[in-house]
Amino acid sequence: GRPVLEIKNLSVDYGYGDDRVRALRNVSLTLREGEVLGLAGESGCGKSTLVYGATRLLPPPGLISSGEVLYHPEGGGEPVDILRQSERELRAGRWQDTAIVFQGAMNSLNPVHRIGRQITDAIAAHRPRTSKAERDARARELLEMVGIDPGRISAFPHQLSGGMRQRVMIAMALALEPRVLIMDEPTTALDVVMQRQIVEQIVELRERLGFSVIFITHDVSLLIEIADRIAIMYAGDIVEQGPAARLYRQPRHPYTKGLLSSFPPLRGPRREMTGIPGSPPDLVNLPTGCPYHPRCPHAMPVCSERLPSLIEPTAIGPEPDRLVACWLDEDPAATVPPELALRP
Ligand code: SF4
Ligand code: MG
Repeated sequence: GRPVLEIKNLSVDYGYGDDRVRALRNVSLTLREGEVLGLAGESGCGKSTLVYGATRLLPPPGLISSGEVLYHPEGGGEPVDILRQSERELRAGRWQDTAIVFQGAMNSLNPVHRIGRQITDAIAAHRPRTSKAERDARARELLEMVGIDPGRISAFPHQLSGGMRQRVMIAMALALEPRVLIMDEPTTALDVVMQRQIVEQIVELRERLGFSVIFITHDVSLLIEIADRIAIMYAGDIVEQGPAARLYRQPRHPYTKGLLSSFPPLRGPRREMTGIPGSPPDLVNLPTGCPYHPRCPHAMPVCSERLPSLIEPTAIGPEPDRLVACWLDEDPAATVPPELALRP
């Protein structure tokens, strides 16, 4: 598919000077038309920072220190750089081009307003010329789309379960038919059954409406089921990306392997759950070289010296659409002085 959103070399810092935390380091990622792109990694790895940075929704003290985010308009016009748009242009594009379901969104419904009104208000804000009847009809249609009986349009949020409230948030996000739907841990607070129903619904809606999805979760096993491609993040950077099925069957980065062994697959043969020893690094004091080296069972001398770049793996042979940032998958002899490449 053609690109819809191209994130290029995006860096985000929190704070200034000596207290500066480099939350995102030169991250590039492309979302293609109609695909579900999964973003996985332990909490604090920069998944949310990446999408909030790319959509200019970073809460303070987050600052974008470099990068471009190209949005390709429908029909193939010139791409626009979201990071350089005016506030007015940004507001116009928000919800129509790119809509976000925030982490914990279901708790952000206004408790004193009926859900129908909250949906119609959202429509009215962007489409002021629509009639009340049109907006009501659209709200009912949206509720039905996400599996809520439209008869519940007059319900208050507290009359709905957590799963239903989350569906309302998804309905609101889809109200203006966005081309890109970003979902930050949309099902994390829900039980497994509800989680599964919502995920299936999103996949079905995507097939019907054709939008693209960035789905963020720490649960990589969920992504294996729904994503077309997956990007794995560690310590503010992408360490591996590739087609979901291939990444599952043949993970290449040791961190991806660790993550996969930390989550039980929803289907198929059980893997032994081993998890990853240690904890993610402190972003203020990142380890030198590959930031995963203190936890990596395959670390070599070169790993603590030099940061591997995210490239097509060369050591084992290239694979379509796969990128890996690991010295195991790069021929170190090509770029690294031999004394660093030697194993102990
Ligand atoms: Fe492990 Fe080295 Fe690969 Fe980093 S570069 S993941 S430390 S083998
Ligand atoms: Mg997060």
